[in-house]
Amino acid sequence: MKVLVAGAAGFIGSHLVDALLERGDQVVGVDNFVSGSRGNLQEALTSSRFSFLEHDVTLPFDYGDHFELIFHLASIASPPLYLAKPLETLAAGSSATKNLLELARRDDAVFVLASTSEVYGDPQEHPQRESYWGHVNPVGERSVYDEAKRFAEAMTAAYHRSYGTRASIVRIFNTFGPRLAIDDGRVISNFIVQALRGEALTVYGNGNQTRSLCYVDDLVGGLIRAGDVAELGPINLGQPGEMTVIEIAERILHLTRSLSTITWHPLPADDPTRRLPDISLARETLNWEPTTSVDQGLQRTIDYFAAQLGLA
Ligand code: NAD
Ligand code: UDP
Repeated sequence: MKVLVAGAAGFIGSHLVDALLERGDQVVGVDNFVSGSRGNLQEALTSSRFSFLEHDVTLPFDYGDHFELIFHLASIASPPLYLAKPLETLAAGSSATKNLLELARRDDAVFVLASTSEVYGDPQEHPQRESYWGHVNPVGERSVYDEAKRFAEAMTAAYHRSYGTRASIVRIFNTFGPRLAIDDGRVISNFIVQALRGEALTVYGNGNQTRSLCYVDDLVGGLIRAGDVAELGPINLGQPGEMTVIEIAERILHLTRSLSTITWHPLPADDPTRRLPDISLARETLNWEPTTSVDQGLQRTIDYFAAQLGLA
């Protein structure tokens, strides 16, 4: 297949590119490096079936090629980064989604939108099913990400209804693994890097807030299934297990055998209290569920960061 991956140099995007190349696809990657890096594509760039374009997908572009499948992962995803770049984040959900949907319409390609569990905001239903409409502060700081993704979902659904564009909206829950950027600011990269450096782990709030942690290889399998099946959804993709932030810190301290302590910091505004996906729909429609345990995933991620920090 001829596939376009927008956000190819990012954490998830680069693993997706590798998996698509592995199954024999022709892949074009596009990225503006706002949060990704060329280093993530080191392996992909050795393949004759991969080509890369440096471009900001919020701006229209003639890719020359025709595509059968388009993945839209081009958006900052780290809370500290999207709070620092609010307008770029809104544009990634709005203009970029429109540009890529136009391309899908032109080529009659399948469009896969990487949406997020953040569309549920600070959820009042638990676990979160796709039928839940969410609880988002529309003018809060996080709204630049949450509402951008909600708008992206609305636009994808509208293209599907208006033009018959074959599309799949996947709501990704917290995903981790190698190639998270060291300075990304999300919980797994922060805690592992802090533990390996012997620095205190920075827990925000009381640490009782929960997240579900999905290993990146599992998540990429779900994205590829979504592209194959082209069911609009939305479909939750995540690990159906819940951990508090304190439990995450303790697991990482245990696995790294670190003597680091924990320091307490204010909870960021509108930080969701609980998050846990109901993945029944993914099981039914995509025949998908994660198979990597959190500990296995954490160990691989720790090994990656140890190598990055020159500690391996
Ligand atoms: P990431 O920051 O590593 O990757 C995003 C990539 O998109 C980066 O390479 C960045 O440079 C690129 N990008 C951003 N804006 C762009 C633009 N305007 N033009 C071209 N490239 C642009 O983050 P990630 O964790 O790999 O996230 C990938 C996608 O998955 C994002 O859309 C994110 O919202 C979604 N998602 C991720 C998670 C997660 O836990 N990792 C959870 C929910 C949703
Ligand atoms: N968090 C934390 N310390 C950190 C980074 C994050 O306690 O150094 C918390 C954050 O407040 C949130 C959870 O960990 O409750 C997950 O944060 P992350 O930024 O990884 O993703 P989110 O789910 O908020 O998008």
